[in-house]
Amino acid sequence: MILPGSKSLRKIAVVGRGTAGSLAAASVARLHPDSDHELHHIYDSRIPVIGVGEGSWPSLVEHLQQLTGLPHEAVQQRLNGTRKYGVAFEGWGRCNRHFTHYFTPQQVSYAYHLSADLMAELLQESTRARHIDARVLNITRVEGGAQVEFEGLAPERYDLVFDARGFPRELDPDQHIDISFIPTNTSVIRRCPPIINEEQDGPVLKPTYTRAVARPHGWIFVIPLTAHTSYGYIFNRDVSSLGEVESDFDAFLEADGVSEYEQRAVIPFPNFVHRQIYDGAVARIGNAAAFMEPLEATAIVSAQLQIGMVLHLRLNRSVEHLERDSPLVNRFLINNILCYGLFVGWHYACGSTYDSEFWRYARDRAWTKFRKAADPELVGCDALRKFDDMIELISQPVIGKADWNRMCGVPLTSYAQISQGLGY
Ligand SMILES: Cc1cc2nc3c(=O)[nH]c(=O)nc-3n(C[C@H](O)[C@H](O)[C@H](O)COP(=O)(O)OP(=O)(O)OC[C@H]3O[C@@H](n4cnc5c(N)ncnc54)[C@H](O)[C@@H]3O)c2cc1C
Repeated sequence: MILPGSKSLRKIAVVGRGTAGSLAAASVARLHPDSDHELHHIYDSRIPVIGVGEGSWPSLVEHLQQLTGLPHEAVQQRLNGTRKYGVAFEGWGRCNRHFTHYFTPQQVSYAYHLSADLMAELLQESTRARHIDARVLNITRVEGGAQVEFEGLAPERYDLVFDARGFPRELDPDQHIDISFIPTNTSVIRRCPPIINEEQDGPVLKPTYTRAVARPHGWIFVIPLTAHTSYGYIFNRDVSSLGEVESDFDAFLEADGVSEYEQRAVIPFPNFVHRQIYDGAVARIGNAAAFMEPLEATAIVSAQLQIGMVLHLRLNRSVEHLERDSPLVNRFLINNILCYGLFVGWHYACGSTYDSEFWRYARDRAWTKFRKAADPELVGCDALRKFDDMIELISQPVIGKADWNRMCGVPLTSYAQISQGLGY
């Protein structure tokens, strides 16, 4: 098939080999129609990938099958994966009850719980690229493309660069939209023995759920893989000390019957959306483009969207449209990720069973900043209006069929389930 944009997309670079970079390189290799395109996969092996990121959304199941050409069952087994049908919330909201946020259609649609390292490996196997192990110093836009400057190597010019270098070092209000209405900024990760047994001759079919358990200092995720179970305590280091969190984590694991664990990492994180995700020549993807705490596992699905939008547009539209398309794509991506941000922050709106310092801060001080942070004048898109529309819709006594498929980052069904669960 002749794709009108492919002629202007001869030489492409992907910088970074974490989840986002591996997805981008595999997508270029799979979607580019001309076998003689050049793909450089660049990373600095001295800078480790973040490596967490074990929950996903259902679109990943189809996507991995397309990128690898392997059957679903084989993909799941290669990832030490289980089938995630949703998120099971414990202790959230004002009703003091457990509830589940199912993917739609409920109990049919599933995503993966997966090992992030194994997914990157699997994607790299099916990607034909020249690998360059070097530190990138700068990526700058130049006439008709972008230039990458390396430490110790000559600079190279590309038609398109995917920048997947992970979190920015610090947030700059000119470049980043601060979404700290999401009240957490640090995670403690522990790895524990598996609670799901691997099957002898096929993938695990039993439905599984990510547990999101409210705790006095934040919440704990529990992600069951076949090789281990991942636990993470998500909290705010400005409200609770690491010592307090570790000791509550110990108490939780003991109550859960877990007697041994391996301490993996303490990871601080920012909550932000980059104002310039795509400028026509450089596409920021993954944690370089945006980040928010992992409550609804929105990072991999965001990277899928960023990569898919940019690649499809560059391949399917002729280069004359580039200047006009790029700001629209940029705004669309910012809007979508801000919608995710509002959806995630809203989970804190009704507090939890704990009347602790963290939960008072989350509900009364952090979440209440969302309107200012997402002000359309300041962010250049209308995510806030879409969010307000969604909240109004779920407050209606009857929701007409014409509205059932409405989305604000996630479908109306997700808003309805969280609203009922929280007692909003
Ligand atoms: C606690 C926690 C839990 C999470 N859980 C989930 C989840 O359940 N679901 C989900 O979707 N997401 C989750 N995430 C998000 C997860 O981090 C991302 O999905 C994913 O890891 C994307 O990372 P990345 O590829 O953008 O960056 P990274 O993994 O940080 O990779 C960066 C890459 O860039 C390279 N690099 C960096 N600087 C340079 C340079 N100067 N030159 C050359 N190379 C460079 C590095 O070598 C590396 O290869 C979670 C995050 C955290 C913190």
